[in-house]
Amino acid sequence: MPAPASAMVNKAEQILNNTFGYRSFRPLQKEIIRTVLSKKDSLVIMPTGGGKSLCYQIPALIFDGLTVVVSPLISLMKDQVEQLHELDIKAVFLNSSLSQEEYRINVNQIKSNNVDLLYVAPETLLMERTLNMLSNLSVDCITIDEAHCISEWGHDFRPVYRQIAGIRPRFRDATVMALTATATPRVQDDIIKNLKLKNAKKFIASFNRENLYLQIIPKNNPLSQTLEFLEKHPNQSGIIYCFSRRQVDELAEDLQYRGYSVRPYHAGLSDSDRKLFQEEFIKDDVQIIVATIAFGMGINKPNVRFVVHYDLPQNIEAYYQQIGRAGRDGLRANCLLLFGYGDIRKINYFIDQKEDEKERQIAKLHLDALIRFAESYNCRRIQLLNYFGEKYNKENCGMCDNCSVEQKDLTDVTVEAQKFLSCIKRTGELYGAMHIVDVLRGSKSQKVIDKNHHQLSTYGIGKDLSKQQWLTLAQQFIQKNLIIKDLEFGSLKITDAGYEVLKGLRTVSGKLQTEQPDFAEQPVSDLKFDKELFEMLRKKRKEIADSLGIPPYAIFPDKTLIEMATYLPQNGDELLGIHGIGRVKMNKYGYRFLKIIHSYCQQKGIEGRFVKHRRKRHRHDSSLMKKRKYELVAEAYNSGVPVEEILSEYKMKFERLIVHLRKYKNEKGNINPDKLLSYIEAGKSKQSKVLELFEKLGTEFLRPVFEAMNEEVSFKDLHILRFYFECKSNSE
Ligand code: ADP
Ligand code: ZN
Repeated sequence: MPAPASAMVNKAEQILNNTFGYRSFRPLQKEIIRTVLSKKDSLVIMPTGGGKSLCYQIPALIFDGLTVVVSPLISLMKDQVEQLHELDIKAVFLNSSLSQEEYRINVNQIKSNNVDLLYVAPETLLMERTLNMLSNLSVDCITIDEAHCISEWGHDFRPVYRQIAGIRPRFRDATVMALTATATPRVQDDIIKNLKLKNAKKFIASFNRENLYLQIIPKNNPLSQTLEFLEKHPNQSGIIYCFSRRQVDELAEDLQYRGYSVRPYHAGLSDSDRKLFQEEFIKDDVQIIVATIAFGMGINKPNVRFVVHYDLPQNIEAYYQQIGRAGRDGLRANCLLLFGYGDIRKINYFIDQKEDEKERQIAKLHLDALIRFAESYNCRRIQLLNYFGEKYNKENCGMCDNCSVEQKDLTDVTVEAQKFLSCIKRTGELYGAMHIVDVLRGSKSQKVIDKNHHQLSTYGIGKDLSKQQWLTLAQQFIQKNLIIKDLEFGSLKITDAGYEVLKGLRTVSGKLQTEQPDFAEQPVSDLKFDKELFEMLRKKRKEIADSLGIPPYAIFPDKTLIEMATYLPQNGDELLGIHGIGRVKMNKYGYRFLKIIHSYCQQKGIEGRFVKHRRKRHRHDSSLMKKRKYELVAEAYNSGVPVEEILSEYKMKFERLIVHLRKYKNEKGNINPDKLLSYIEAGKSKQSKVLELFEKLGTEFLRPVFEAMNEEVSFKDLHILRFYFECKSNSE
C-alpha cells in the first residue's frame, strides 16, 4: 500500500538532507516532487542549473519501482550516473556507447530489480527488446529530459522524441514528467501536445540566474581585454566563445603561448580531440576552453566561473543559453561580452546568405534585439527577463555592469554631446560612430582626408577624450535617443531631442568611460573562506577524483570546499552540516578532508567556527551526536586510509580499532576485514585452528579461545580473527 503523500514528502526531505547533503529545497522542487509522488503528470520548466535533476531523482528513491529517464545526450548520462554512484544510488544507463558486455551487465541489473534509475537514449528506449524488458518490471515514473527536443520550434528538434508518447499505454502505472530549460510558450504547448500529457501540472521557475554577473563592454582590443579579464580569474574554469573556428584556434594559441591552461573546441577538430579536450576541461586538468557554439550542450560542469563572448552571439537566446553554462553550482560567475560593431556586420553578412526570406527577417529582428540589449544602459537582467516574458520586481539587480554604475560616475557630458552632434551634422548624417570619432579626434585616416573632413570646424575638437571614451559616449547618446542609428548602414542621424541639445535647451549626463574597462573582481561567494585551506582541499579532491577516474565535482562541489574552508568542521557531525555532504559521501571521503582541516587548524592555531544553526536537520538520526569516534574510525578505514595512519591519528591501540570497526559493522554497515589479516602474527595453521574454535565456542568471549590455544596466540590476533570470522559468517 502506498504511503500517504505527506509521509512521502517528509521522506523526500530526509533524502535531500541525508543523501544529497543539501539543507533545503530550491523554489518549486518540493511542489514538483509532491506532484510526481502523487503520480500526476508534470511539465517542469527551469533554467539551466535550476535543479531539475533532483525533482525526479528523489522520487526515484522513494518509489518501489523503476524511474526511466529519457535523455538525448549520451555524455550527460554517464556524468549523471557517475555522480549518483558517488552517492551510492543505484543508477545505470543504456545507450549506444556501451560495449555489449557492459550493456548486458546493466540489463541484468535492471532485470533483477536492482536499479532505481535507468537513463536511456530515446532510440534505445524505443527498441522492442528494451520495451519488453521494461514491460516486465514495475515502472513508476518516465522522465523526459530536454523535452523541447520534441518540438520543431525548439532549438534542438529530434524527430525520435515524437515516438515516445506511443509507449505510454504500456506503462499505465507510470507518471510522466517532462523537463526543459526552454522558455517559449510555443515549445511548452508542443511538449504537452506531443507527449499527450494528461492534465499535466505546469511548473515554471524564474529564469533569473541571480549568481551571474553580466557585463558588456565595447570591443576595441579583444585580446588584451580578454587577458586583462583572465588575470582577474586565476585558477578558474571558464569558456570563451568565438564566432569562427579560425578565431578559436588563434585565440587558444595566443593564450597558450601566454601560459594559460587552454584547449580549443570546434566542429573542425577530430572527434577524439574534442572528446579529449572536453574531458580535460571537465576534470579540471584544463582551465579554459576557447570554443565555437559547438561547445556546451553535453557538459554539466557546475564550476564554470566565467563565460566570455569574444565575439557577438547570434541572438539573445543563444547568449542566454551560453552564459547559462556558468555558475550552475550557484556560486558567483562572471559573464563578459565584448561588443564590437564589426561583429554585427559579420553576422549580418551570414544572415544575408540565408535563402529563405522569412528566415532572414527573423534572424535580423533577433540580431536587432541583441544589439539594443547590448547598447542599453538599463539593467541587463531586467531586459533579459523581459525578453523571456518575465517580470523582475526590483529596480536594480546589483549584478550587472549597468546596475553597478554609481551615480557618482555620472557626469555632465552636454558639451561632449554638442561636439558629437554637430560633427554628425557637418558630415551630413551619412557616417557611423567610428568616422565621427575619427574626425573629432583629428585622425589623418585616408577616409577623413578623402572626404575633406579635416577642413571641418569640428575636426580635432575632441582630442581630450580617447577613441574608446567617444565610442562609449556615442552608445549612450543612442540610448538616450539623441541620435538614431540606421541599422543597415550604421550611419547616425540626429533626433529632435538631439537638436534640443545642440541648441542648448537640454543637458545630458552620462558616463565617461575610463580608459581601461574595470573587471571588478567578483568574489565567488559571500563567505570569507580561507583561500590557502581551500586550495589544499581542492588538491585532495582532485587527487581522489583522478584515482577514481571521475570529475572532481562528482566528489564534492566547490561550495562544499568553500564551506569547509569557512566553518572548519572538526568532526563527522559538523561535517554533515556542510553543503553537499550526506551520509554516503561522509563515509567515503569525510575523514580525508577532516584530517587536512585538523592539521591546518593545528598548524595555524585556529579553532573550528562551526555554528550550530548551520546543522542540517537529520531526522531519525539523533544517535549521531553520541557515537562519533567509532564512525569516524570506520569511515576512515572504509575509505582506504592506511591502518597505521588511523592508529596514530586517534592515538589508539590496534585492539581498539577492531572494537570500533566491529561496532560499526553491527550498527551501521559493511566493513571489509581483508586488509587487517596482514597484521596477524600467528601462522596459518594456528589461524585456522582459531577460526574453528570460534565456530565451536562462539565469538562472545576471547579468553576461552586464548586458553584453548595454550596462550600461544596473542589477543591482538584473536581480535582480528574474531572480526574476520564474524564478517565472513555474516556474509554467507
Ligand atoms: P539543471 O538540470 O536544472 O540544469 P541540476 O539538476 O544539474 O540543474 O542542478 C544544478 C546544481 O544544483 C547541481 O549541482 C545540484 O546538485 C544542485 N542542487 C539542486 N538542488 C539543490 C538544492 N535544493 N540545494 C542545493 N543544491 C542543489
Ligand atoms: Zn542589473
